[in-house]
Amino acid sequence: MSWQPRSLLITGGAGFIGANFVHCTRRWHPECKMVVLDALSYAGNRANLEGIPEDGRFAFVHGDIRDQALVTELLRGHAIDAVVHFAAESHVDRSIAGPEAFVDTNIVGTHTLLTACRSVWLAGPEPLPHRFQHVSTDEVYGSLGPSDPAFTETTAYAPNSPYSASKAAADHLVRAYQHTFGLSTAITNCSNNYGPWQYPEKLIPVMIMKILAGEPLPVYGDGRNVRDWLYVEDHCSGIDRVLRAGRPGQTYNIGGGTEIENIELVRRLCAVADAAFAADPGLRERYPDCPAARGEPTLSLLSYVQDRPGHDRRYAINAGKIRAELGHVPQMDFSEGLRATFHWYLDHAAWWQ
Ligand code: NAD
Repeated sequence: MSWQPRSLLITGGAGFIGANFVHCTRRWHPECKMVVLDALSYAGNRANLEGIPEDGRFAFVHGDIRDQALVTELLRGHAIDAVVHFAAESHVDRSIAGPEAFVDTNIVGTHTLLTACRSVWLAGPEPLPHRFQHVSTDEVYGSLGPSDPAFTETTAYAPNSPYSASKAAADHLVRAYQHTFGLSTAITNCSNNYGPWQYPEKLIPVMIMKILAGEPLPVYGDGRNVRDWLYVEDHCSGIDRVLRAGRPGQTYNIGGGTEIENIELVRRLCAVADAAFAADPGLRERYPDCPAARGEPTLSLLSYVQDRPGHDRRYAINAGKIRAELGHVPQMDFSEGLRATFHWYLDHAAWWQ
């Protein structure tokens, strides 16, 4: 089964992945109308959607997913037939410092959206054509040992942080609304993303910024925690495939198949920086504090810091289902993606500064 939604409500569309999804959808489905609903929290930035005119095909609404009256009005007013739900509190460290906001946005907010969708799409004698597409994380599955098999869609949930617990609760609510009320839903659980417009508190942009400033590169614990990295556009194409061709009520894992230890990731990023400075003498003037500006190895900035509490050791995604059912295969090679991301941050210094 495949269908073409005509009018999308994209929550959290001014955040990292949501904004990339909006840009991709403009390219892939120019006819598709999009309404972005975003509260512009510290992680949201209207500038992430720069260059997209507010014409008949795009509207930006500054508002909260917990505002049911607003969500209902948007669903009706824009004849929304699919919600793609990115809005969330998304940073694990922040969820340790203050879990309440994670419960409010990730659980209550998701439930508010589901309630509004049910009231609009399922109110009549016949349901309106619709889809509720929920964007979630592989962190709901907990942590793997070094030789455990990768997470599949049937791996039992075992969230370890307040962040992943709040996402797991939201996933369960989405599932329950499908099962109990007949809402047409789909869930994607994805591995760590990287790429343009990622707020500079997550691992890769933090490291890039510190490399350029010549500051110590803080690596948690022994640096041997393993993550499965995916270029953000490859996540967006997976969501797009599931939205248009995924079976209702299903969960699909999306992952890059690029398992790598944090310490190795930092090493590779330092090598990218060394190569960039060697190739472009102008960078030495722009970033004189980076060791590479003096011809020294960027890796000299490496510094180990105390591990965070409950730090999951390893995540790995088995993406066999989305590949077999929907033909989705990530396109970006990891080394090339890392290089492209480093250069994106170089080219968009005004954005992060
Ligand atoms: P992000 O923190 O960059 O963006 C979140 C966006 O949601 C921001 O624009 C913020 O303003 C908005 N928002 C927050 N609370 C809101 C509210 N109450 N109402 C309306 N908008 C609100 O996050 P991201 O990295 O782009 O992640 C997007 C989604 O993808 C999240 O649901 C996250 O759990 C999931 N995910 C992220 C990753 C990753 O590696 N970043 C991996 C897998 C899944």
